[in-house]
Amino acid sequence: MTTAEQAPGSPDDLRERISAVMPGIIDDLTRLVAIPSCAFPGFPPEPVLKMAAETVAWLHRSGMPNARLLEVPDGYPVVYGDRPAPPGAPTVLLYAHYDVQPAPPEQGWTIDPWSPTVRDGRLYGRGAADDKSGIAMHAATLQAFGDGLAVGIKVVIEGEEETDSHLEAFALANPDLFTADVYVIADGGNEQVGEPVIGVSTRGGVVLEVAVNTLEQPVHSGLFGGAAPDALLALMRMLATLHDDTGDVAVTGLAHSDWDGDDTDEQLFRRASGTLPGQPLVGTGRLSSRLWTRPAISVIGLDAPPTHGAVNALAPRAKAVVAMRIPPGADADHECQRLTEHLVAAAPWGVSVEVNPTVLWPGWSTSPNGPFVTLAREAMTEVFGKPTGVIGSGGSIPLLTTLAEINPAAEFVLWGAEDGAQANIHSADESVDLAELERAALAQTIFVARLSSDARMDQGKQS
Ligand SMILES: [Zn+2]
Repeated sequence: MTTAEQAPGSPDDLRERISAVMPGIIDDLTRLVAIPSCAFPGFPPEPVLKMAAETVAWLHRSGMPNARLLEVPDGYPVVYGDRPAPPGAPTVLLYAHYDVQPAPPEQGWTIDPWSPTVRDGRLYGRGAADDKSGIAMHAATLQAFGDGLAVGIKVVIEGEEETDSHLEAFALANPDLFTADVYVIADGGNEQVGEPVIGVSTRGGVVLEVAVNTLEQPVHSGLFGGAAPDALLALMRMLATLHDDTGDVAVTGLAHSDWDGDDTDEQLFRRASGTLPGQPLVGTGRLSSRLWTRPAISVIGLDAPPTHGAVNALAPRAKAVVAMRIPPGADADHECQRLTEHLVAAAPWGVSVEVNPTVLWPGWSTSPNGPFVTLAREAMTEVFGKPTGVIGSGGSIPLLTTLAEINPAAEFVLWGAEDGAQANIHSADESVDLAELERAALAQTIFVARLSSDARMDQGKQS
C-alpha cells in the first residue's frame, strides 16, 4: 500500500470510513423500513409525515444541519438539505424517495412487510430497497465525509415518487433549489448482486381510458344476444388488436429503436419476472430492446362483471385503462395520438368509442460516456472489481426529465442497491442485500470524493 492510498479521501480511507458507519446506517434503515409510508390516496398520512420527519433527523445526524421539510403544494413535503460548493467546485444533487409502494397480503408476502428482518444478509420489508436503501446510501456518504466535503451538496428526498408526484411542478417553480452539475439518483440497482451497472435511460409513458357504449341498460343475453351489441365484447376485440401474434405491439407509427449495448440476461429476467417454467416470453428481437427502447402496452384495468354471480346479460358499457410505455426519446403526445387513433379505428360493429388520456410523461436518457458518468463507472469498477456495464430501464422516474429541463447541461448517475434479480421491488418480500448496499454507498462516496479533484470535471463544466 502506498502513502497516497492511505491519504484522506483515498479509496482505502473511504472504504474504512464507510465500513465504520454502516452498522449505524443499517440500524437506522431497519427502523425506518417499519414505517408504512405509502403516499397513495386512501392511505393514512401520519406514517408518511413520520417518515419525512425521520428522514430529516437522519440527515441531521449525518452532517447536514440545515436538512428540513419543504412544503410541496397539494403533495407531501420534500426533504431538502444543502451545503454550498467551495469556489470552483461542482455541486452534486443526491436524490432518493421516502415513500413506498403499498404491501397488500394478496401480493403473497411470507413475512410482515412492516417488521423488517434480516435473513442471509438481506434486509426484508417494504421499502428496504425501493427506496429507503437510497436514503441510506446518501446518509452513509455524508457520514463518511463529515466536515471534509470539497464539493457542493444538495439532498432531495421525495415523498411522492410512487404516486402522482407534485414535486415536478415544485421543482420548475423553484429551479434554484434543484440546480446541480450532476444528479445522483439512488433509485436503481445492478441486475444482480455484485455485477456493476449504471442506468442511462428510462422509458416514458401514456395512460388512457377507453370506453365503449352500446345500450341504454344491461339486457337479457338470450332475448337480445345475437343482434344487440355487447359493449364488453366490442372493447375486448379492440384491445386484442394492440399486439400481433408474436406479442409485439401492433400499433403503427410508434417510435421504437434497438438497444445498442449489451443484451440483458434472459434467465435472470425470467427469474426476476416470475415467468412460469415452459412459458415463452412475448415479442421478438433483443430482450433489451423489448424492455428499454421499444413500446410496450398493457391493459391495467378492465371493468367487467365478476365471474362470481355472473348473470345472463349483455354489457351496455365497458371501460379499460390502457398503459403504454414509450422509448426514451419519444414524444408522449405523438405516441398517445397514435394509440388513440388505433383504438378508434379498431372499434367493431360501428360502436361509439371514447378515449381519454389521463397521464403522459416523457422518457429520459443520459450519455454513458460523459465525464461525470465515466467517473461514476470508474468508482463502481473499483469497488466491485469488474467492468461496469450500462443498462436502460423499462420503468420511469418522472423527476429526471424535470431536472434535465432545469439544467440541460447536467449529467445523471442512476444507480443503487435495488438488484433486479432478488430485490422484488413493488412485489412481495422486498429486500436489499446489505453487502451490496455497502458497495453502492462506497462507490458513491468515492465518486463524490473525486468530483472535486478530477481535472475532467472542469472540462465537463465548460462544455
Ligand atoms: Zn423507487
